[in-house]
Amino acid sequence: MNNRNLGRADRMTVVLERDGTHCTWCGQDLTGLAVPTTDHLIPKVKGGPAWLENEVAACRRCNGQRGHLSPAEWLTECRGRGWHPDAERVRRVLASLREAIEERGGQRRARQYLASQLRRLNC
Ligand SMILES: [Zn+2]
Repeated sequence: MNNRNLGRADRMTVVLERDGTHCTWCGQDLTGLAVPTTDHLIPKVKGGPAWLENEVAACRRCNGQRGHLSPAEWLTECRGRGWHPDAERVRRVLASLREAIEERGGQRRARQYLASQLRRLNC
């Protein structure tokens, strides 16, 4: 999964096929009224690359409310709200991002952030 030139709609299709059609954070079904978005696990402002390995499906509400919180912080916040976030998906996608960065190189800022997130998520 290394096509970085896909358009927005195609990226969404790939992500939904990979992870299923529910919001990573609140579990809401994204095939109904909720508007699906792709949420960057490592925020762009923290150096997160625009790769599929850094994206998960989220409803627009969660994507907006998360802001720049880290995945670990936001998972805690989601649980505090009584939701059942898909922490396993987050771990899996972050692990695939680690592999992608190892393969492709670069992404110095993202590497450090990713390492600390993986530690917090016990990967
Ligand atoms: Zn949601």
